[in-house]
Amino acid sequence: MEYKVTLIPGDGIGPEIVREARKVLDKVGERFGHTFHYTEILMGGASIDACGVPLTEEAIAKAKAGDSVLLGAVGGNVGQSNWYQLPPDLRPEAGLLKIRKELGLFCNLRPAVLFRQLKNACPLKDELIGDGFDFVVVRELTGGVYFGPRETKTENGIRKAVDTMPYDENEIKRIARWAFDVAMKRNKRVCSVDKANVLDTSRLWRQVVREVSAEYPEVELTDMLVDNCAMQMVKDPRQFDVVLTENMFGDILSDEASMVTGSIGMLASASLGETKLGLYEPSHGSAPDIAGQDKANPIATILSAAMMLRYSFDLIREADAVEEAINRVLDQGFRTIDIMSEGCTLVGTAQMGDRIAAEL
Ligand code: NAD
Repeated sequence: MEYKVTLIPGDGIGPEIVREARKVLDKVGERFGHTFHYTEILMGGASIDACGVPLTEEAIAKAKAGDSVLLGAVGGNVGQSNWYQLPPDLRPEAGLLKIRKELGLFCNLRPAVLFRQLKNACPLKDELIGDGFDFVVVRELTGGVYFGPRETKTENGIRKAVDTMPYDENEIKRIARWAFDVAMKRNKRVCSVDKANVLDTSRLWRQVVREVSAEYPEVELTDMLVDNCAMQMVKDPRQFDVVLTENMFGDILSDEASMVTGSIGMLASASLGETKLGLYEPSHGSAPDIAGQDKANPIATILSAAMMLRYSFDLIREADAVEEAINRVLDQGFRTIDIMSEGCTLVGTAQMGDRIAAEL
């Protein structure tokens, strides 16, 4: 098969880590008989320097014309870079918000995987993590309190602010379907997280998710209150497969889930919409402190490319092969500096990419 992949190297370590992911994709193509055609576009600081804006209409059109987008990271050193003297809508990160909006991406997937080889990095006790854990947070991305009507005013000399959290059933249905679809490709368990003991939106959420679950008889659905879920993630992360939740709860829980793995350079993410065209990127930023030094860990970006294979192209065997190759390289003891531990062999960004590609 042939696939059109839009690459956004971005800023900082972005170009280095995207280069390694491309290397791995090419090897997947060679081994499984696919061709990936790449188009590069500028975003973030790189686009500001070249075009004066963080994302041009031309770049958006190119991304829309492709089958999927793979992003490194955007942004610079907030305290030092001139990009941050610009108005907020012209700064590097505005490009990211714009492309998500233009591509209609309402679903964010953040896997939290603790590789058994990196158990040392996990802040949880050994008996809680066993052989490691592997779950994914499915977060609604375009609704809820971050987008609801809000107001700040002064009434009778008292300052007052109000945020509202609207959700309609269609918004809940479409994100729930993504969660069940993801579960069908994993261990077929969805835990829907809400605050149904207090919030009306959560009560509607619970009802609609239950209705959608009828379309997926093979998937087991449970409900959990968000405060309990925050505790369970540090108490027994192995219980989860797919965690489905609304925007603000998902914002908080997906960061908590990332932190319990302890390795920022290993965390992939995907943003998805109604079509197969998704945006795949590592969860970390552009790490300007180590840019251009061959120190960045490319694994989060390579895992993001594996997610692209799995969710945008339905290439499950190929995605599994990439993940297995990463596991083998970690088994052999190769580590970039961020995940380095005693007795392992230190490698740079390019060498890590080479080794993973060679294992395919
Ligand atoms: P960061 O994630 O870039 O870096 C935090 C720390 O983790 C740094 O010490 C960095 O060296 C390290 N690190 C990050 N990724 C790594 C990797 N792959 N390998 C090894 N070490 C890694 O977060 P920050 O410093 O807060 O932000 C830097 C810039 O990135 C800012 O401009 C911020 O706005 C931007 N940012 C962009 C995105 C995105 O593009 N999606 C996300 C977060 C932050």
